[in-house]
Amino acid sequence: MLPSYMKPVRHDWTKQQVEDLFEQPFNDLMFQAQSVHRKKFNPNEVQLSTLLSIKTGACPEDCKYCPQSARYDTGLEVEKLLAVEKVIEEAKLAKDAGATRFCMGAAWRSPKDKDLPYVTKMVQEVKSLGLETCMTLGMLKENQAQALADAGLDYYNHNLDTSPEYYGEVTTTRTYSDRINTLGNVRKSGMKVCAGGIVGMGESKADRAGLLMQLANLPQHPESVPINMLVKVDGTPFEDEKDLDPFEFIRTIAVARIMMPESHVRLSAGRESMNDELQALAFLAGANSIFYCDSLLTTANPKANQDMALLNRLDIVPEKNKINIDPSDQEEILHKKILSAKTDHLFYNAVN
Ligand code: SF4
Repeated sequence: MLPSYMKPVRHDWTKQQVEDLFEQPFNDLMFQAQSVHRKKFNPNEVQLSTLLSIKTGACPEDCKYCPQSARYDTGLEVEKLLAVEKVIEEAKLAKDAGATRFCMGAAWRSPKDKDLPYVTKMVQEVKSLGLETCMTLGMLKENQAQALADAGLDYYNHNLDTSPEYYGEVTTTRTYSDRINTLGNVRKSGMKVCAGGIVGMGESKADRAGLLMQLANLPQHPESVPINMLVKVDGTPFEDEKDLDPFEFIRTIAVARIMMPESHVRLSAGRESMNDELQALAFLAGANSIFYCDSLLTTANPKANQDMALLNRLDIVPEKNKINIDPSDQEEILHKKILSAKTDHLFYNAVN
């Protein structure tokens, strides 16, 4: 009989089973995660996404980790919705730098119907460059999800953030079921789902297990599962949160990999404060996607050249774009980037 971690895709995890995965000896957990990972993915490939903030700050919600909430004084410069031309310009730069997916984020509770023509235009234009598209715009009604899907949006991101039990400690202006409803509307529209959470917000191990149980017990697993480490931004209620043991972060990635064996698990926010060794451990635990850009909405991210240097040291290559208009062209760009990392000035700095 197969061990439970090698069984096909499941949607019936109990809390105890998830906690048992977390509680294993670290090496056993890593072995299981890597074994599961190799069944579905090339372990030496990582998908690269770029994230652009298309509307920054002044968000009415109260997510305690977020510098974009209008309720906290974080010194963030508020920006209105970017012009479509500016977004296209940034998308071209991201493509030239080797990204295959372009994610656009707006700090809204939910988009207004008057905003939709602008964001759907952004989707169409970015897609025409041969990039996969993803947006995160807050809660979506069914008709809004459909409008984005009709425009060709590939992925919609909406995180569950944490367990239902801990959720009230993080956000009070929208409910857990609001979030689940948005994910349902996205799924119904035919778009792919990107949904994950944040660890290091003072939650317990049981909460981390609860978050992963919620994600894995959705009727269909999210295609993309970002696991974020809290970035403690001055002025937010979580600015003084205690550091989470980095091995707990790695365990969370490994358990996510085991429970959602066909999803891309993204090593997401918080990478700026991780050293190369910790990131390598995250890849070993089954993370196979990163944000590859100089900033994540409003918080820092490792420089793209440093990322390429790290991938090169680990013999990891960027995953090819599944919707690429000109595959040979894109592949050539990515491989040139990896090769140039060998001779790039920053590469030598990175390994010293
Ligand atoms: S996480 Fe999103 S919804 Fe929450 S405050 Fe930040 S921008 Fe607003």
